[in-house]
Amino acid sequence: MVIFKSKQPEVHVPTDLTTWDWLFDSEYSPIFRYPAFEQAGYQNAVTKERVSWQEVKDYSTYVSTALVKKYGLQEGNTVALFSQNNVWYPVAMHGAVRAGAKVSGASPAYNVEEMSYALKIGQAKFLMTAPSSMEVAVAAAKNAGIPKSHIFLLEGNLDGYSTIHDLIAIGKSYGENGQTPAFKIPAGKENKDVCAFLSFSSGTTGLPKAVMIAHQNVIGQCTQIQQITPVDQKKSLAILPLFHITGLVHGLHLPVLLNAEVIMCPTFTMEAMLDTVVEYHLKELLLVPPILIRMVRDPIVDKYDLRHLTRFSSGAAPLSEEIIQQLAKKFPGTGFKQGYGMTESCSCITAHPPELYDYKYAHTVGTIVANTEVKIIKEDGTEATYNEPGEILARGPQVVMGYLDNPNATAETFDADGWLHTGDQGAINEEGIITILDRIKEMIKVKGIGVAPAELEDLLLGHEKVEDVAVLGIRDDYAGELPKAFVVPKPGVKPSRELALELMKYVKDNKVRYKQVKVVEFTDEIPKSASGKILRRVLRDAGDRGLVVK
Ligand code: AMP
Repeated sequence: MVIFKSKQPEVHVPTDLTTWDWLFDSEYSPIFRYPAFEQAGYQNAVTKERVSWQEVKDYSTYVSTALVKKYGLQEGNTVALFSQNNVWYPVAMHGAVRAGAKVSGASPAYNVEEMSYALKIGQAKFLMTAPSSMEVAVAAAKNAGIPKSHIFLLEGNLDGYSTIHDLIAIGKSYGENGQTPAFKIPAGKENKDVCAFLSFSSGTTGLPKAVMIAHQNVIGQCTQIQQITPVDQKKSLAILPLFHITGLVHGLHLPVLLNAEVIMCPTFTMEAMLDTVVEYHLKELLLVPPILIRMVRDPIVDKYDLRHLTRFSSGAAPLSEEIIQQLAKKFPGTGFKQGYGMTESCSCITAHPPELYDYKYAHTVGTIVANTEVKIIKEDGTEATYNEPGEILARGPQVVMGYLDNPNATAETFDADGWLHTGDQGAINEEGIITILDRIKEMIKVKGIGVAPAELEDLLLGHEKVEDVAVLGIRDDYAGELPKAFVVPKPGVKPSRELALELMKYVKDNKVRYKQVKVVEFTDEIPKSASGKILRRVLRDAGDRGLVVK
């Protein structure tokens, strides 16, 4: 068997701790490793609200006590977080996890239908949100059977709703000895067996599913990344959404372990981000390819003195060679690193260690992180050796538990020997450096966010003029990929530009912005296998044939 092992020294991953105990009540906690005045925290770049690690510990203790004692939260319940990045998001998250709950995240841009689906498949019992998302939150909570009394605000005030500050006050009122004890990993189990977070991903095929992320997955991944993070990394920018796996690891957990101040930007604009970078003198920027593209193309960047930048960090989608070269030219003296992985690997399978922080390695995704093994399976089903392309399989403490209540999808993606089948094609060289070559799974990546073709196909199949449909990603300079729909109209319906625009509008009215179909091509037939599976590669390789409307 050809298995590639990490070349990093093995790291110790505790198997008995919850993420809360690990970060706030163990030898690994910054609270015990640093004196109070040296402890960092979460900070909102716009409102300047800040909570230190000690405050996060105290507040999350109160939140968990209030949720358990006043609102009846039980171990294993799901608490959904539905808001932009703000410092109360982690307080609520750590509080719910301390109480033994699972925490799920969702895009604050979701509409009612999308949010209802997320609440239902995540089996949410509580919802924490913000005034700007309230209309959607209330309607979705109703659809998912969540009572009004279980909806809380993470910021602002609205009549009839309790806020995170109310929860803190309620918890505090129980006094020092009245706090609910922190949830512990049950006897006979390890922290890899207990789910702490749910994140939504379509995986290699089908509709979005709730990915079950165990306490150990987060602890393992943070420990793996800590090993290859320079000690001078004392501040981190949290501009990427906290609901995505990158935010969960690199925005919410890893900085606590590193005692690095987290500077949160609630919404993304280039100006807000660059103001923050300058104001806080941020040296390393963790971004996704569309923002890196703007770093080299957007003229606004030239208005800022960014000479203090030392490094760009990328992930979530491929970055083109052209942009890599432009970054190196425009920001001389900076280094580059990136991570590769997926929600199902709780972020990274590979990453650049410091010795590879050079633009000459930027087209690769670095080396295998500690305690992790990789296998590469060639198209003929045999195992690849060096420099042979194939599907990447990974095994390690960061590989998640599976999909909530979906044993079939779990078995398809996680095999009996613990290997995660990534649906990505790549190759490894003799130095242990991996390059991603292609995505062989269905997932489309729009600005780094996964879009499930099946979700858009389901929607379009419900349109009265659509007989059959297949959706796939087409390359886009800026977004990376955009959804394109191949449509077979109902008998008697003529393909036309008007019909294409009508279908695009239909998607726009029903789905969040990044899922919108940007191109429609009419066709006579969707190629399918004998079992009815859409042959996406055939469509992709065929090129434009019918009427194409953009
Ligand atoms: P998600 O679960 O949303 O994080 O999406 C995971 C997928 O994003 C992976 O399976 C890859 O297809 C893609 N991806 C993530 N990181 C990279 C990277 N550094 N380079 C290329 N593709 C990536």
